[in-house]
Amino acid sequence: MTTKVGIVGYGKIAQDQHVPSIEGNPHFELAATVSRSGNGHPGVPCFATHADMLAQVKDLGAVAICTPPSVRYAIARDCLEAGLPCLLEKPPGVTLGEVEELKTLADAKGLTLFTTWHAQHNPAVTAAAEALAGKNVETMRITWREDVRKWHPGQAWIWEPGGFGVFDPGINAFSIATRIFPGTLWLKEAELLFPANRQSPIAANLALSGSAATGAVTAQLDWRHSGGEAWDIEVRTADGETILLSEGGSKLSRNGEAVAASGPGEYPDIYREFAELLAGHKSHVDVAPLRLCAEAFLLGRRTIVDAFED
Ligand code: NAP
Repeated sequence: MTTKVGIVGYGKIAQDQHVPSIEGNPHFELAATVSRSGNGHPGVPCFATHADMLAQVKDLGAVAICTPPSVRYAIARDCLEAGLPCLLEKPPGVTLGEVEELKTLADAKGLTLFTTWHAQHNPAVTAAAEALAGKNVETMRITWREDVRKWHPGQAWIWEPGGFGVFDPGINAFSIATRIFPGTLWLKEAELLFPANRQSPIAANLALSGSAATGAVTAQLDWRHSGGEAWDIEVRTADGETILLSEGGSKLSRNGEAVAASGPGEYPDIYREFAELLAGHKSHVDVAPLRLCAEAFLLGRRTIVDAFED
């Protein structure tokens, strides 16, 4: 039997990735969308609020919450209260407490809660984690630069408190780093660069510590980058290996040699895992990437830079 899914927040990621992945997976069927502007998926019932969807779609089996993060908690809580398993886009909330509370609620109700981190679903990331397991890390360098105008055109929410700013893509890097690093990572120092007219940073320079790291662990996040993306994580191990994950975790090389790794793709793999979690009545909740963001905001020294206009 297929699970009927409702998508709340029918924006860029819902349209680009969730809909094709649901339509391409025999375990799921797109049954409803929620869009305040009435701009839902053609041929599928569209509701102005998630409450309307919960009240009117009687055979809904799960909800995918693809809104901006600041409203994720309230929507997820209502869906869980209504007895529906939830898949959360990244980041799963704006605070760690929100996610903990959702997990408590999901557990109490015996419902699946899935905090998705799409970058972790690259097979090259799994291969890198396997290559680093049990090793000591000498250095790890995260470089995450992209053009905000290309990836987030006109998304005003991203600059607001709870919008994450450059940590919106940066948290993807953290989701890979926390997955592959053979130990715990935490923040040591952070410089956050805020445009004079915005509430969220446009760039960040971070120094981290790690339980298995002897040298520097650094991250440079920057949205003021044009001419292609740089989404790289380079790790040097104490035994002399160099592991490079590039192109957002999709390509792996070991000591300069490309390593082949193939899989269904990030979002098809997310829905593969969601089907598995639903069948096993299990949850998958991972807050490690969100914790690094929270620590960066806690420790961050603020530098004001040029105002940003879309
Ligand atoms: P988006 O294009 O702005 O879409 C979000 C949608 O949510 C909007 O279309 C809006 O639809 C709805 N929405 C906005 N504010 C809302 C509110 N206060 N209450 C209820 N609904 C609201 O954003 P997006 O890029 O898809 O990003 C959504 C989430 O996916 C973010 O957490 C982001 O980090 C994550 N993500 C994005 C990408 C990407 O490449 N864009 C990749 C991976 C993950 P209506 O106005 O019609 O209601």
